[in-house]
Amino acid sequence: MLFSRLLIPTLKENPAEAEAVSHRLLLRAGMIRKLASGIYNYLPLGLRVLRKVERIVREEMDRAGAQEVLLPAVQPAELWQESSRWQVYGKELLRFKDRHGRDCCFGPTHEEVITDLVRKEVHSYRQLPLNLYQIQVKFRDEIRPRFGLIRGREFIMKDAYSFDADEAGAEACYRRMYDAYNRIFSRCGLSFKVVEADSGPIGGSFSHEFMVLADTGEDLLASCTSCDYAANLEKAEVAPAPGSPGPPVGDAPELAPTPNVRTVGEVAAFLKVTPADIVKTLIYETDEGPVAVLIRGDHDVNEVKVKNLLGVTDLILAGLIRVQELTGAEVGFAGPVKLKLPIYADQAVARMTAMVTGANRDNYHLKQVNPGRDVKITAVADLRSVTEQDPCPRCGGVLTILRGIEVGHIFKLGLKYSKALKATYLDQEGKEQYLYMGCYGIGVSRIVAAAIEQGHDANGIIFPMALAPFQVGLIPIALNDPAVRECVESLHADLEAAGVEVLLDDRDERPGVKFKDCDLLGLPFRVVVGAKALDKGQAEVKERGSNETKFIPLKELWDYLGKLIQEGARGNIIS
Ligand code: ATP
Ligand code: MG
Repeated sequence: MLFSRLLIPTLKENPAEAEAVSHRLLLRAGMIRKLASGIYNYLPLGLRVLRKVERIVREEMDRAGAQEVLLPAVQPAELWQESSRWQVYGKELLRFKDRHGRDCCFGPTHEEVITDLVRKEVHSYRQLPLNLYQIQVKFRDEIRPRFGLIRGREFIMKDAYSFDADEAGAEACYRRMYDAYNRIFSRCGLSFKVVEADSGPIGGSFSHEFMVLADTGEDLLASCTSCDYAANLEKAEVAPAPGSPGPPVGDAPELAPTPNVRTVGEVAAFLKVTPADIVKTLIYETDEGPVAVLIRGDHDVNEVKVKNLLGVTDLILAGLIRVQELTGAEVGFAGPVKLKLPIYADQAVARMTAMVTGANRDNYHLKQVNPGRDVKITAVADLRSVTEQDPCPRCGGVLTILRGIEVGHIFKLGLKYSKALKATYLDQEGKEQYLYMGCYGIGVSRIVAAAIEQGHDANGIIFPMALAPFQVGLIPIALNDPAVRECVESLHADLEAAGVEVLLDDRDERPGVKFKDCDLLGLPFRVVVGAKALDKGQAEVKERGSNETKFIPLKELWDYLGKLIQEGARGNIIS
C-alpha cells in the first residue's frame, strides 16, 4: 500500500484534549478523529487495527462453537419493560421516540433482544446448546467519557449470549468462553490478568474480567504474589483475622467533647488515638430505606459488598440534612450507639474492644465503645476493600494492588432474562423448562487503545505484530533516484506477494519526517532503501522499539523479515 493513497493525517504536536497516552497517539497517528464527546471516526489505519482485533475475536469465537449474528442497534422499549430494565438502567441508556411516538433506545447491550429472538426460534432441547455472538456498535451515554477509545459513548463490542438446557451445560459453556478469551487476548499480544469479578446477586465465582495491566487503568485489582488468586478490588475478599476479640475496656462508653472535630484524621489527632481505633458510621439511603455501615477509620468501605449483602440496587451516602434527621447530629458526629437504623458492621469492627465513634450529638464523640456490648448490630460481614497490608484470602501470601483496563467480561446469567422474558424449551420428557444463559463481552475498540497503553515510547506506538496496521514501513531515501525507486517498488511487490503488509512511504517528504511517522504509527519493522547501501545490495532494517539498525542483503530480506513476522503475527494464524 502506498502511503500517499491513504488518509493518514499525522500530527506533530500533542493534542491538548488527550490525557491518556493511547488517546494522544491514536490522534497523532491519524487513526481516529473526534466527532463529539466519546464519539470517534475511525480513519483507514485505525480501522485496519480494529479489523485485526475483530478477526482474532471471530476466529476464536467460531472455534469455540459460537455462531455470528448481527442484531439491531435500535431496540423497542417494550423488551426493556419486560425485563424491568427500562426503569432500572440509568442515564447511560439513550432513550428516544420514533415518529409514531414509540419509545426506543440505542442498545448498550443486547440481553433483551437476543432472549426475544431465542424464545421465538428455540423450542426444543434438540436445538441446544446455542451460543450466538455479534460484533457491533453499542451506545452508552457514559457520564464521563474519556481516554479516547477506552471509555467512549459509542464503541464497538463483541457480545455473546449462550443458551443451555441446564446449569451444568451453562457452566461448560462458561469454561469454553474463559479459554477462548485467554486465547484472544494472548493472540492480540496483550499482557493481561484474569480476575474474579463481582457477580452481583448471582454470587459464586461465575464472573471473570480480563484486565490489561496498565498504570492508566480505571480498575483496581488485587493479585497474590504467591498463588493465582486475583480479583477486582470490588470483589476481592478480606481474610478474617484469626482469634476472637478481647474483653471490653471500661464499663460503658465515655463521652468526649470534640469541638468541630469531624474527620478520622482530626479525631485521631485530637483524642491522641490512631485511625485504627476509630470507627466511621456511614449513613446510606437504599431502595429499602436508610442503613448505617460501620467501617474502621483506616479502612475504605466497599459499596459493592454492601449492596450485595443488602440485596439492593441503589446505595448512596445520605446528604447533610438527612444525616441530621436520622442521627440527631451533623455529619462527622454520627455513631452506632442507640442509633435506630439497621447497622451493618465490617468484620474488623466486630473484633474491636474499645472504639471511638461519633456520639450522635454535635461536637461530641464516644470512647470505649464495645461493639458487642454497646451496639445493636444487624449483621457482621466483609464490607471493606482489601489493601496491600491484608494477607491473600486463599494462601495467606502477599497481595499487590494493580491497575487494569477491563477488556473482557464473562458472566453467568442463570435464569434472570429467560424468566423475565419467558424463554423456555421443551426437555426430553416434553416438560417446559427455562433456558440457562450466560453473557460474554469484549471491548473490541477498547483493545486497540489498551494495546497502545501497553506498547509505546516517546516516539509513538509500538504495536504487537498481530495488531499493527502494517507490518513493514518501507522508506526510500530519494525516490527520484531510479535505482532506489526500482528497488523499493520491487521490494514492495515481492513482500506483498509473500503476504507481508507493507506501507511504502512514497510521499515527497524529507527522510526524517518519514522515519518519525513510521515510529509514530508503531509499524513493527522499518526498512530503508538508500543509494549507498543499495550499491552494496543491502537495505537497512530496524525493529520498532529497538535502537539497533542492521544492514541485510536484499536477497535475504524476505527470509529475515518473514520469520520474525510469522512468529509475531501468529495472532493472525490459527495454530
Ligand atoms: P466498565 O466497568 O468499564 O464500565 P462494563 O462492566 O460496564 O464496563 P460490560 O457491560 O461488561 O462493561 O461490557 C463488556 C465490555 O465492553 C467491557 O469489558 C469493556 O471492555 C467494553 N466497554 C464497556 N463500556 C465501554 C465504553 N464506554 N467504551 C469502550 N468500551 C467499553
Ligand atoms: Mg463489566
